[in-house]
Amino acid sequence: MVKSEAVHKSFGPVEVLRGIDLEVQAGDVFCIVGPSGSGKSTFLRCINHLEKVNAGRLYVDGTLVGYREKNGKLYELRDREVAAQRRDIGMVFQRFNLFPHMTAAENVMEAPLQVKRESKAAARKRAVALLERVGLADKTDNYPAQLSGGQQQRVAIARALAMEPKLMLFDEPTSALDPELVGEVLDVMRDLARDGMTMIVVTHEMGFAREVGDSLVFMDEGIVVESGTPRDVLGNPQHDRTKSFLSKVL
Ligand code: ATP
Ligand code: MG
Repeated sequence: MVKSEAVHKSFGPVEVLRGIDLEVQAGDVFCIVGPSGSGKSTFLRCINHLEKVNAGRLYVDGTLVGYREKNGKLYELRDREVAAQRRDIGMVFQRFNLFPHMTAAENVMEAPLQVKRESKAAARKRAVALLERVGLADKTDNYPAQLSGGQQQRVAIARALAMEPKLMLFDEPTSALDPELVGEVLDVMRDLARDGMTMIVVTHEMGFAREVGDSLVFMDEGIVVESGTPRDVLGNPQHDRTKSFLSKVL
């Protein structure tokens, strides 16, 4: 579903991604762990072309991200084409980024209304169903300020799902939450995984990674240091950098 080949990304003189190679199979939960500044968020942002790679290639579902290849040369896609690629990819951030002046249902309806030109009735019906799916049937008409952090994050997940993505990217979706609210968000993600969604999850929740993850990579300083099943990497790390990181977070 996702293939990353020698992906490099620099900001000015600073090389943040120094050749990322990995492959995510359809239906898998692929976890990324690593210290602050190792390039995890940057890599996620490259997958939907919010950041442009400087070298290497990313493929989503067999399609090159952000570029068209012709006679061995790469040509940048137009904004409209990039937007079309992004439509298949849902993203959930650490901060919930809901529209504060819209209710939960309106937040979920927004993209289907604006982008897919769905009718209001159809969008509302699906929004209510999605909010039910994330356990918020009774909060459809609440504004974000009237919801807890965990509830807001579940609305954000429902909003991403409203575009019926093939792939979901999660960037530390629980790290801004009070500890007692983490579980309800992880439960929703677990359900999504069970339903077969392909997910890339940057997380510090090692219990979740071990239980739900199919693969896990440890990133440090812009490279994949170690990869394997969560059980292997977390339980039996081979590299000193992985061991040192895990000794701090486990
Ligand atoms: P964290 O765990 O703290 O979220 P991360 O692994 O997600 O860290 P990134 O956010 O990808 O790390 O950042 C990697 C490096 O790239 C950092 O040194 C950061 O300062 C730098 N960086 C990220 N975005 C930009 C940008 N837009 N301009 C310049 N530097 C950036
Ligand atoms: Mg980050």
